[in-house]
Amino acid sequence: MSGAATLLSDVFGFDSFRPGQQEIVEAVAAGRDVLAIMPTGGGKSLCFQLPALMRNGVTVVISPLIALMRDQVRALREAGVEAGALTSGNTEEETDAVWQALDSNQLKLLYIAPERLAAGSALGMLRRIDVRMIAVDEAHCVSQWGHDFRPDYLRIGELRQALNVPLAAFTATADAETRDEIVERLFGGKSPEIFLHGFDRPNIHLAFAAKDGPRRQVLEFAGSRKGQSGIVYCGTRAKTEGLAQALREAGHNACHYHGGMEAESRRIVETRFAREDGLIVVATVAFGMGVDKPDIRWVAHADLPKSIEAYYQEIGRAGRDGAPAETLTLFGPDDIRLRRTQIDEGLAPPERRSADHGRLNALLGLAETIECRRKTLLSYFGESASACGNCDLCDTPAETFDATTAVRKALSAVLRTDER
Ligand code: ADP
Ligand code: MG
Ligand code: ZN
Repeated sequence: MSGAATLLSDVFGFDSFRPGQQEIVEAVAAGRDVLAIMPTGGGKSLCFQLPALMRNGVTVVISPLIALMRDQVRALREAGVEAGALTSGNTEEETDAVWQALDSNQLKLLYIAPERLAAGSALGMLRRIDVRMIAVDEAHCVSQWGHDFRPDYLRIGELRQALNVPLAAFTATADAETRDEIVERLFGGKSPEIFLHGFDRPNIHLAFAAKDGPRRQVLEFAGSRKGQSGIVYCGTRAKTEGLAQALREAGHNACHYHGGMEAESRRIVETRFAREDGLIVVATVAFGMGVDKPDIRWVAHADLPKSIEAYYQEIGRAGRDGAPAETLTLFGPDDIRLRRTQIDEGLAPPERRSADHGRLNALLGLAETIECRRKTLLSYFGESASACGNCDLCDTPAETFDATTAVRKALSAVLRTDER
């Protein structure tokens, strides 16, 4: 058995761990129950792949997307690691090869699609092989009220109990409710060791402004960033089309994107955005999953996002390459009212609604803060930080910052109407 550092360079070809990885790798390799929360791109896969090589037996990996599993298995095999997947996307030969590797005790990582757990035979099959650890990727899929809920994830808890092996869960969703649901459903309520890491994206400039002619404000923001790739998020489908049109009239290369468009038209926009330099996509939140363009230079919110989580995810699409990126989030009293109504009139049960109000309020707190935005944002995610020097409030302290006054006025107007 080799040490973590040797495997890191020999197998994965990296010279050092990313922030947080080493502690997680050590805890998982030692066989402790672990919940690791790291932002997208933080390097979560390594935190179960590497320990799997340090441990005897097979690590079963549960992951929600067949495409992701296949990519990981391919990359591992190219690195000389015995890995296989059992999914509905397999050819017969692929499945046979996985069984052969399992029978000869060669396989280190076995990826399984969650729907396989629903088949009665899965447990019997897993009992026959030497499973020593379960890794759950995208663990927030067990959260019933989240966007990515996968009913089959609810079976993972039973699987852990039946196999009686340690479990390591990974997600980029950091809010307290989701964390509690993961602990409850995957770990049977017995708290695992929790790692929360690296939510700071220091290259992204953070800024909020009260709405005061949103179309003009977005055009101004985009106007001083001509030729750069950017995303404008809007609250409604209709707005995306109008704003894309206005941007084109102002000489930008811009198009719109929303969930009401034909799959084919959406795919065209996704491909153009990935390939072209300097395209602006004006979109609803439907534009997100799978956008992994590294050089998005800016993200603007023409309307207030629905929660602090959504805000973080959406601005987080900018500057993946580490180079400076800018964001601007606009909001006004109507946005706040609309978001509140959406929560109240949504289908979620009462306890969920109050959590959603909490997430919206946390975003309002961020909009209203007079302290460094990043400090406020990171403290929501449980991380401490000092003033960042890369947000509107660090640029211009609150005493002299009119926008903050405007924001406070907008907020107190809403609070007053609510009291009536
Ligand atoms: P996540 O699942 O947290 O979104 P991934 O596991 O997909 O992140 O990793 C994101 C990228 O970072 C991958 O390209 C991966 O190869 C790379 N990566 C992971 N760990 C390291 C490291 N220690 N050094 C350099 N690159 C790394
Ligand atoms: Mg991942
Ligand atoms: Zn700051």
